[in-house]
Amino acid sequence: METSDTDSGFSSLGLRPELLSALAAMGYEEPTPIQRETIPLLLSGHDLIGQAATGTGKTAAFALPILQRIPERGAPIVPVALVLVPTRELAVQVSEALYRYGRDLGARVVPIYGGQPIFRQLQALSAGVHVVVATPGRALDHIARNTLPLADVQMVVLDEADEMLDMGFAEDIEEILKSTPKARQTVLFSATLPPRINAIAKRHLTDPVKIQIGLGDTKPGKALVRQTVYVVQRNHKAAALGRILDVEAPTAAIVFCRTRTEVDLLTETLNGRGYRAEALHGGLSQESRDRVMNRLRAGTTELLVATDVAARGLDIDQLTHVVNYDVPAAPESYVHRIGRVGRAGREGVAITLAEPREQRLLANIERLTKQKIAVEKVPSVADLRARQIELTLGTLQQALEADDLQNYDDVVDSLAQQFDMRQIALAAVKLTHEASGAVVDDKEIPDASHRVERPRDNDRGKPERPGAPRKGADRAAEAGGSRQRENGETTRIYVGVGRKDGIRPGDLVGAIANETNLSGREIGPIKLAEHFAVVGVPEWATDEVIEALKNTTLKGKKATIRRYTD
Ligand code: AMP
Repeated sequence: METSDTDSGFSSLGLRPELLSALAAMGYEEPTPIQRETIPLLLSGHDLIGQAATGTGKTAAFALPILQRIPERGAPIVPVALVLVPTRELAVQVSEALYRYGRDLGARVVPIYGGQPIFRQLQALSAGVHVVVATPGRALDHIARNTLPLADVQMVVLDEADEMLDMGFAEDIEEILKSTPKARQTVLFSATLPPRINAIAKRHLTDPVKIQIGLGDTKPGKALVRQTVYVVQRNHKAAALGRILDVEAPTAAIVFCRTRTEVDLLTETLNGRGYRAEALHGGLSQESRDRVMNRLRAGTTELLVATDVAARGLDIDQLTHVVNYDVPAAPESYVHRIGRVGRAGREGVAITLAEPREQRLLANIERLTKQKIAVEKVPSVADLRARQIELTLGTLQQALEADDLQNYDDVVDSLAQQFDMRQIALAAVKLTHEASGAVVDDKEIPDASHRVERPRDNDRGKPERPGAPRKGADRAAEAGGSRQRENGETTRIYVGVGRKDGIRPGDLVGAIANETNLSGREIGPIKLAEHFAVVGVPEWATDEVIEALKNTTLKGKKATIRRYTD
């Protein structure tokens, strides 16, 4: 019998019942390490500096305490929290998360960012909102217009603070913080904590508690486990997993997902692709779990799709593959998961699917395990076909080595009277191949491993050059330039506005980062002349950047945008 488990593991953190019900509905089974540490601290009103990367669950870590402060339905609707983020993309993502977690509270959340028509934001703001998620430039615009009421703000969150500084938003952030009530609670999240971040914290946070996630100590993984990561965009993950499994052809695999909902969806997708997959999550009774496990041991099920909680205590000798459908939030959890294969001297395979943004988490894992995880390209259609033929070959070789073929002597003799031996063999191969259930798949899956969005830690937080105080955006442009030289070609783009139009390097970096997936460090070098600018961007992103800049304005002006030629 299935249990309807509404205790999501979050209940001991002191959250409102409406939040617990929303989390349970989303299939979150337990808090991630950062959530477990941060939520009680934030609920009790502390200021906080959190060092955590994307993928650790940090959004919920601050979103839930924000939502805890939303007044009951019927009370006046005014902003009680302001979240500042570096990019449009993140503004939308964080707003969506707040909206989903705040579903049962009727939370009203609005993202405001540059590039979107301001009147839509004005409409949303004047209709009343509880939480504003904004990029600093646009937040400041609204403050200047008196359209962003901050008098009732109780909490300000600076998310990805290092990225905001890299993009030249330091002064804007200072201004915004000055416009919020002094008695507010202030929370700062950053992947790295260079001195500039600490300086902001010193000025604007009161006795902050410091929390660091993902840098704990753990045992190195086993050398017998082949570890591979595939980098794909979220919308291609399911297809990529199907393709990878087709090529890997695991005997028995466990696929880890973050939520129950994801477990159910993925199980369905994999079954649709011809796999015998079973869902295993915390909502199953012990009896159902046992049944699933027995089917896996007996070989009637080949894939288990599970959350960490559900897989706790599972010990399966037959496992050949562990798949992380997402990069696990805590490096310890990665080590724990992959420890399920490669036992007793057997070889095992650990496969991880990462979205471009999650690559920083991989670096943490590599640092802990002191092992490299190989980045591989998602297999192409040709790779898949070649692998399928190889598998058929293997099946036939096994059959040829077995000594039970004489049963079919008569069949072959009779066919040989009409057909040539080679033709008979070809027909047998064809039937074997078709009977293997090999999927016919002719769509290529885009690989995103060239989209390194984030530099490794050691690229960041470099000490400032002494005696040369320069703006953050200049530094970002410079850092971006050197990173591109490491990672590929840089193209220069001509932008038909310059210093005379009031443009600063930060405006260019900000506009590009806002309108595309690029991070500040991937943009640059920037040459700023009186009437135009030339900006370096990675070659692979050139068309996207040109298109994006053509559709936006810089300091209110439409500029000519094209590839730059000397
Ligand atoms: P973030 O680090 O905030 O970008 O979160 C990374 C991903 O983890 C998002 O897709 C969240 O929806 C998901 N997530 C966050 N917290 C949990 C949790 N406690 N259980 C399962 N998934 C979570």
